[in-house]
Amino acid sequence: MLYANSFFCISSHCKKRIGLFGLFLFLGACSFSEKTHVDIKHHKLLIGITVDQMRFDYLQRFDTLFIHPNGFKRLTQQGVNFTQTKYSYFPTYTGPGHATIFTGANPKHHGIVGNDWYDKSLGKYVYCVSDTTENTIGSNSGAGQMSPHHLLVPSIGDYFKEFFGQTAKVYGISLKDRSAILPTGFNGDAAFWWDGGKQGKFITSTYYMSQIGEWVDQFNESGYADRLLESDWTLSPLLSKLDLDDDLPWERPFKGMKAAVFPYELSKLRLINGDYSLLKQVPQGNELISAFAKKLIENEQLGLDTIPDFLSLSFSATDYVGHRFGTESLELVDVYFKLDKVLGDFFSYLDQKIGRDNYTVFLSSDHGAAPPAGFAMVNLARGGTVNPLDLELELRNYLQNKGLPQTAVRSLINQQIYLDTAISGHQTVEVKKEIISFLKAQPFVEETLDAVVFSTGISAAYNGRHFNAAKAGYHPKRSGDIFYFLKPNWVEYPEGGSTHGSFDDWDRHVPFLLWNSSLNRKHINTPIDVVDIAPTVFEILDFKHPNTFSGISRYPVK
Ligand SMILES: [Zn+2]
Repeated sequence: MLYANSFFCISSHCKKRIGLFGLFLFLGACSFSEKTHVDIKHHKLLIGITVDQMRFDYLQRFDTLFIHPNGFKRLTQQGVNFTQTKYSYFPTYTGPGHATIFTGANPKHHGIVGNDWYDKSLGKYVYCVSDTTENTIGSNSGAGQMSPHHLLVPSIGDYFKEFFGQTAKVYGISLKDRSAILPTGFNGDAAFWWDGGKQGKFITSTYYMSQIGEWVDQFNESGYADRLLESDWTLSPLLSKLDLDDDLPWERPFKGMKAAVFPYELSKLRLINGDYSLLKQVPQGNELISAFAKKLIENEQLGLDTIPDFLSLSFSATDYVGHRFGTESLELVDVYFKLDKVLGDFFSYLDQKIGRDNYTVFLSSDHGAAPPAGFAMVNLARGGTVNPLDLELELRNYLQNKGLPQTAVRSLINQQIYLDTAISGHQTVEVKKEIISFLKAQPFVEETLDAVVFSTGISAAYNGRHFNAAKAGYHPKRSGDIFYFLKPNWVEYPEGGSTHGSFDDWDRHVPFLLWNSSLNRKHINTPIDVVDIAPTVFEILDFKHPNTFSGISRYPVK
C-alpha cells in the first residue's frame, strides 16, 4: 500500500498526510514527460468535471438542447469526444466511479469498492470517506467527519503536488462529500462539500485545515443559498414547447406534492424536504457549485501563476434528479438543459479570468442509470424491484430450514453476501452451496459468483458476463464472499426513479470529453476504459505517467 509509510505534516496545523513523495521536488524535468518541449500553455489550470449519473447517450439525446455556445457544445464540437468510454468493473456507484476517474485505477487497486461496504474485521458498515478521527470545519454538524483515508492509491490531485510541489493548488468541490474528497486525494489543499439540512454551508474537515477560510465563511453567510431556494424550479420555456409528458407514473414526487409536476415551489418544499438539502435535488444545486467554484478560483488564485493547478468539480444534482424522477422524466431533461448553461457561463468566466489558452477541461461521469423499474415493467414487459432487506431475511430463513446457522450471513450489500469468518471450513462449503442455490432460484438473478474464483480462476465452462467486471471491482478485505447479479431492468430500488450499480451498458457507458484551445474536434470511437481517462489527460498535458495508473493514454499519437 503506497501510503503505508506516510507521515503527518509537522509544519502545518492540519493532519493531512504527506506521502513520501510529498517531499516534493521543485518544478523540473521530472514533472513533465521527457519527449516533448513543454509549453505552459493550457497548463495553468486543469479542471476535472464529473456530472453525476450522466449516461453517454445523453450527449446525443440532448444534443439539440445544448444550445449554449460555450457549454457542452464547446466540448463536443471543439474538443475530443471518446464515444465508447465504459466502466469495466462491478458495481457502478458514485464512490468507486469518482475514485476510478481520478486515480486511473479500478476498485481492486484503489479500494473504494462501494459507497459503503461491510468490514468483516470491524463487524460493521464502512462509508467510503468516513473518518471519525476528523471533525467538521465550517459548521456545527458531524458532516465533516470525513477524509480520503480509505483510498489506497494517489489521485490526480496528489500527482499535481508530487510533480509541482506545494505551490501547486489542488481543490475539490461537490454537493457530496465523497465526490469532493476522492478526486482531491491525500495531499490536496482542501475538499469542500455541501452540508445541507439546517446548516446550508460548504464545509470541509480537520483533515485539510483547522479553520474555514474567510472567503468560504463569507460565501456561506452571503445568503446565496437562500436566494436559490427562493426561486422556483420552473420548466425552461424551450422545453415546454417539446410537448413532453410531465406527469409519469414512475416518478417519485417530493414530500408535500401529489405528483411530480412543474413548477416546484422551493420555498415551500424546503420545509419538509430537508431544508438546505433540497438544493441537492434541483438544478439550483448546480448553480451553487459553479458560484462556489468561482469564489474559490478568485480567492485561492487558481490558474494565475506558471505552476499548474487542479480543480475537481462534481455536479451531483443530476444524480438526485435521476434518482427521484428517473431517466425518462421531463425534470431530467430540464436539469441537463440548465446544466449546459451553468457550464457555458463557467467556461466563459474561465476564458475571461484565466485565459482561454491557459486551461484544460475534461468531463466524465461516475456511472450512468437504468430506466425506472416501473417504466421497464410497463413498456418493456420485463424487470422489477428487489428489496435487499427482504432478500437477506429470506436467505437467513432458507439457511435455517437447511439446518445451517442464520448468522452465517453477516451482511448483504452491493449485490454481495458477506459470510461469518467464524464458521468452519466444512460448514463454509455447505453454506456457500446453499446460498448459491437460493440465489439461483430467484427469478431476478442472472448469475452468481463465489469470490474464490478471483484468486483461483474461473472454469473453462463459464459462460457468464460478470467475472472480469466483478474481479476488477473486488478487494479481498472489503468485498463480499458471494456475488449475485440482477437480470437487466431488475433493480434494488423502488419502481419510481432510476438507479445504477449494474454492469449493463446504461450504467457503464459514460462521456469522456476533453478540451483545450489547441485540441481539434475529434471523435474517437474505439472502446476505452474509464481507467484510461487519467493517463489520457496526463498525456495531453505532457505529464509523466505514474505507475499507479492502470490504464493507458488513448489520445492518438500525433
Ligand atoms: Zn453518482
